[in-house]
Amino acid sequence: MPSQATTQPQREKGTTKPTEVTGRYQKRLEEFIQEEYSHQLEELATQYPEKKSLIISYPDLDSYDPEIAELLIKDPYTIIDHFEKAVKAQDPFIGMEEHEFEPHVRFTDIPDEYSYLIKRLSSEQINKLVSFEGVVKKITEVKPKITLGIFQCVHCETTQRIRQDYKDNRIKTPNKCQCGRKSFKLLEEQSEFVDTQKLEIQEKLERTRGREQPSPITGWIQDDLTNEIQPGDNIEITGILRLNKPKKKGSIYNKYMDVNNVEKKETEFEELRLTPKDEEKIKELSNDPLIYEKIVSSIAPSIYGYEDIKEAITLQLFGGTKGKEKPDGMTMRSDIHVLLIGDPGTAKSQLLQYVESLAPKGIYVGGESSTSAGLSASAEKDEFGDEGWTLKAGALVLAGGGMALVDELDKIDSDDRASLHQAMESQKIRVAKAGMVSTFKANASVLAAANPKYGRFDPNELPAEQFNLSSTLMSRFDLMFPIKDQPNEDKDKEMANHILTTHKAAGERIEREEDRTKEIETREVTPAIDPELLRKYIAYARKNIQPTLSEEAEERIQEFYVEMRKIGEQQQAVPITARQLEAVIRLAEASAKGRLSEKVELEDAERAINLQKTWLKKIGMDPDTGEFDIDIIATGSSKSQMDKMKKTMNIVKRINEEYDEATYDAIKDEAKAEGIDEEEVKEVLKKLKKNGDIYTPAHNVYKPA
Ligand code: ADP
Ligand code: MG
Repeated sequence: MPSQATTQPQREKGTTKPTEVTGRYQKRLEEFIQEEYSHQLEELATQYPEKKSLIISYPDLDSYDPEIAELLIKDPYTIIDHFEKAVKAQDPFIGMEEHEFEPHVRFTDIPDEYSYLIKRLSSEQINKLVSFEGVVKKITEVKPKITLGIFQCVHCETTQRIRQDYKDNRIKTPNKCQCGRKSFKLLEEQSEFVDTQKLEIQEKLERTRGREQPSPITGWIQDDLTNEIQPGDNIEITGILRLNKPKKKGSIYNKYMDVNNVEKKETEFEELRLTPKDEEKIKELSNDPLIYEKIVSSIAPSIYGYEDIKEAITLQLFGGTKGKEKPDGMTMRSDIHVLLIGDPGTAKSQLLQYVESLAPKGIYVGGESSTSAGLSASAEKDEFGDEGWTLKAGALVLAGGGMALVDELDKIDSDDRASLHQAMESQKIRVAKAGMVSTFKANASVLAAANPKYGRFDPNELPAEQFNLSSTLMSRFDLMFPIKDQPNEDKDKEMANHILTTHKAAGERIEREEDRTKEIETREVTPAIDPELLRKYIAYARKNIQPTLSEEAEERIQEFYVEMRKIGEQQQAVPITARQLEAVIRLAEASAKGRLSEKVELEDAERAINLQKTWLKKIGMDPDTGEFDIDIIATGSSKSQMDKMKKTMNIVKRINEEYDEATYDAIKDEAKAEGIDEEEVKEVLKKLKKNGDIYTPAHNVYKPA
């Protein structure tokens, strides 16, 4: 199977003579098809035009006739032409008219030496048959392309049939009419057309390192290949690399693919190539009793602190058990979503970018720029589609099976937010535009960062009240962490020290490159596990390990849930919902995966529960009662605050009914009698007004809305 062939085969340049293809080749190909592809031939005969193509595996041809196989690579159009003639010359098809039977011969299983990374496709491969893998980023609607033009002279009305060169994207017109003149019109109804689609394919994210931009290439597909592909699909393409003539008088040509064959790759996540030695290292690592601590400390080691966040990211990288179905057939999502909401300058962006480079498959989109880079998916009329519709995949679709790092979540536009919301729960994005409805697969885990409502946390307000996001979107996250940048002498000292060490280490690295003899020590900023190995470790776990709950783990999780619900009942609030229960299960599964364990043990359940408690405490702790309260997240107010709001609202209504208006003083006095002090009344009134429950017709006068 072709894959990451990064080296280009050494083949002669510019020395290929015009290939002398004789009838001998066609005869050989006829025999080859009869001997090795009789089954497909029969299908073609019985199923045409539902089936229009003969799919040839390259190694079959290569072992039958290595000479022709080599020519196919070097001079593909000629050999494909002979192949198609060879098909038409077979028994069942003899005597069929040209437009009645136009089969294609397509090739698959192109060997590694002719498979390239998209970025390595160069002028050396022009007009040769190559193959590569990529992900579909854009695809246009299906449009007809002319294959046979019937032209009529506008003067004497004589017609001419001009077969179009399917390699060329421009129309070929007759030179001259027999009457000597040169003006023609195309008779469209009599001409023949084929379906085509234009697509943009880009390098798979798994194959780009660090923050490198994936290289794109444009391709054209035709006939039976159309209507089969969607943005976000991973595909393997066989085709001929071509050049587009430059517009105007430029000298720079654009390359594109004349696609011969497309195959979808169903694996959501390309396996990194693991050697037996890699596997040995991975297994050895998994037996380390400190594996967990090591992984956590290997996540962005230059960033100080944030152990809980790094632990959450660790679990996210592994993800829960895939492919679980609920009894009703609904699949349960295995992706873990994490949200960071924090003050500016708290290394959120740094963290996201680190994870992008660490994750086996990751894509980073930031804030306002995310609209242009495309977060979700869209249908647009644009230049790419020649003013027709183009479907485009954004980060959430392209990162399928991997991680989407969404920075400045609070700044993305509302359409994208709605898609994000959809993708996070159902793993799909639906785009409906101009009567077209398209559904994209979007199964990425999301690590998002946002700033609080006023840019920075107000220490006097609850964190949950300062999340500038809708509660429905927030509820899709399994874990949420507020990051407050508050001065703390000891912590600040340590952090300064850490950052200085990082800078020093980086400086020493530069020096070392200049003077290799210098021994240096990079201390805690060197990850415990080399990022390359960690990436392989994660990829291995994601692919091979799908843990199930042990009885102990199940009991512990159940106990946690019941305990939390009970607290909720006592408070008459619901502190934890089934969503959080599912989150705990996912987190526990991910924890087991992190150890390459097929069983979720008690320790995994404890880890998941502790993480849940950490963030619930940070975000959902009611400051008045000290209890967890998921309502804070759902409504931005705690249960006790809601009670005060309800009471105050009743007071406002009551006074208004009696006196037609309620002054601040009157409300304050009554509230005091119900145990709400003056400060609180002010707060609550402000909130009620903000929520639109009351309004102020005059200064210090309140009326129910
Ligand atoms: P944010 O996206 O949260 O606004 P950035 O990621 O842009 O913040 O970080 C700002 C700078 O502060 C970066 O250079 C980052 O390395 C540094 N920084 C902030 N917090 C830490 C930390 N805990 N450890 C190391 N560096 C930090
Ligand atoms: Mg930032």
